[in-house]
Amino acid sequence: MQEKDCLFCRIVRGEIPSCKVYEDEYVYAFLDIAPSFPGHCLVVPKNHCRNILDMDPKEAEHIFGAVQKIAPAVVKAAGAEGFNLIQNNEEAAGQTVFHAHFHIIPRKKGDGMGLWTPGAYASAEEMQETAAKIGSEMR
Ligand code: 5GP
Ligand code: ZN
Repeated sequence: MQEKDCLFCRIVRGEIPSCKVYEDEYVYAFLDIAPSFPGHCLVVPKNHCRNILDMDPKEAEHIFGAVQKIAPAVVKAAGAEGFNLIQNNEEAAGQTVFHAHFHIIPRKKGDGMGLWTPGAYASAEEMQETAAKIGSEMR
């Protein structure tokens, strides 16, 4: 199912132009308009869903296969050495377009892009406690 006014549904339908890099029955991939680096692309399910929790499991499986196909091509085309797969869920996490999507960002050593927060844990114990808490939330 698609949504009439969703930006990425409109891109999938071709109502808004995009630089397509890949398409199949379930997935559409195109260049991000404001990339971290050239080649940065977005992989989206053709069916509308707000975030990955909302995604049909079969589609989620399929999209991962598409990422495995697209990412090496992005790396080669960008002359990169690796890539980040980034997926933001909800505003607090930086999601700005509420149609689930994966960012594939080509990376080179020393390119200066930072992802992590140094000193996020006050101690090794706090880190252990956090792992235990996540585990208990899944039981
Ligand atoms: P988010 O912040 O939701 O994880 O990522 C949304 C991404 O969509 C951003 O990186 C932004 O640059 C990209 N974006 C927003 N509008 C458009 C658009 O109209 N066309 C394309 N190609 N990318 C877009
Ligand atoms: Zn949508």
